[in-house]
Amino acid sequence: MVFFQPYQGSALLFKEQPARFNQPTLLLSNTPLLDKLELDKYDTTALAELLSGQRPLGNIEPTSLAYSGHQFGQFNPLLGDGRAHLIGGVKLDDGRQYDLHLKGSGATRFSRGGDGFCALGPAVREFIMSQAMVGLGVPTTECLAVVTTGHHVYRQGEASGAVVCRVAKSHIRIGSLQYLATQQNKDELWSLLNLLGEQLFEGFKVETEQDVLELFREVCEQLVDLVVEWMRVGFIHGVMNTDNILLSGETIDFGPCAMMEKFDFNAVFSSIDRQGRYAFGNQPNIMNWNCARLAEALLVLWQDEQAGIEAFSQILAEFSESFNRKYKDMWAAKLGIDEWSDADDILLSDLLKLMTEHELDFTNTFAALTNSLLGHPNKALTVPTELEGWQQQWAQRHALDDVAANLMSQANPILIPRNALVEAEIALFNQQGMSQTLEDWLTALTSPYDYKDYPESWTSASTPAHYQ
Ligand code: AMP
Ligand code: MG
Ligand code: MG
Repeated sequence: MVFFQPYQGSALLFKEQPARFNQPTLLLSNTPLLDKLELDKYDTTALAELLSGQRPLGNIEPTSLAYSGHQFGQFNPLLGDGRAHLIGGVKLDDGRQYDLHLKGSGATRFSRGGDGFCALGPAVREFIMSQAMVGLGVPTTECLAVVTTGHHVYRQGEASGAVVCRVAKSHIRIGSLQYLATQQNKDELWSLLNLLGEQLFEGFKVETEQDVLELFREVCEQLVDLVVEWMRVGFIHGVMNTDNILLSGETIDFGPCAMMEKFDFNAVFSSIDRQGRYAFGNQPNIMNWNCARLAEALLVLWQDEQAGIEAFSQILAEFSESFNRKYKDMWAAKLGIDEWSDADDILLSDLLKLMTEHELDFTNTFAALTNSLLGHPNKALTVPTELEGWQQQWAQRHALDDVAANLMSQANPILIPRNALVEAEIALFNQQGMSQTLEDWLTALTSPYDYKDYPESWTSASTPAHYQ
């Protein structure tokens, strides 16, 4: 393993020193990821210093990255890491590369009046959610550690300050390319695309317009896969602004995100999303819209703009086709259907209608159907009575055999990080640090397709009484 400077020489990088913290203390760490990155050789004190920016990774100088972004549809030409530092990259012996990025590590030139810090609660939330996403098998940035800083931040009262260290294949966002495009900085765009080709696509060289299209197609395909995975597990990102979408197709920014409980395509979690722009069912459209913004940024590289528009439009149309195909395959797996026919469109829409009408829990409904095929390894989960008629049709149309059970048990998690529990665990953690229940729950979340009995509060859709 070696440390390296990601995006070396790129105009996106600005040297910025993380804030000084008197008492960095390692609070949460992701042991498998520390092992994978070969950082397990450092002791707790060294990790706390490294992963809060108090000490450099090798000889890498910390930087903050500039980016633009469409926020709720409005273009902002200059956002950037206002409370974040890229502390370096890790290159493993097998060639895989990862960015290490801190959040809450102090103000930068991009802070725009913000304090540059992060409170412990949101840091723990990011840790829990990203761990859960890994367990669910959804591409995601992953928290390596949460370090408390020993200072206080002010968020509707006082809170402990914390730094999250997160790891991604790349932290380059759609907004990063929009930033270079806004400045018509073609040379920088070409060199960034090459760095991305190297970091994300096994050394793919981006030298011609055709290469750019190929890279764009790959990125779109990964973003299709990502949004289909979000839909499969009921994840609502909450702020799908172009600055929160990574070209690597990994989930980033677990701010106002949540797992949907009652099934509803219109479900929204962010209090500022009053129009429902980022509602559960609108996420695929928004992902496509975001890809169109990426295409616009890349278009500045074209000699013949009209030819560029046609080429990108073609790929965006493929996005829709590819999405429709993968989306259908996703529902097929959730229902244990290996050969989908037109009549199954009706079977699915009937089910979703019933779930919406009766406000059924998304995860528990599919988990109960799965559980019924597996011989009820979980004693508590039963198919809601409202679905009895539908269930008969399902059983009449399809052989609900081992193949179906197998498909379903891999597509339908039984454990998700339910909002009430996430909030309750964060509150508890704020008061008394790591508890046995949190430790057990985090461990269980690493295998959320393991059909067995769990404490009721882990699978119950409402706030568990002992957490209130
Ligand atoms: P987000 O909503 O987390 O995607 O952040 C949007 C923009 O606001 C990014 O440029 C962040 O760096 C910036 N930002 C968010 N919180 C803070 C903060 N506490 N201090 C400085 N900048 C912030
Ligand atoms: Mg963000
Ligand atoms: Mg955020």
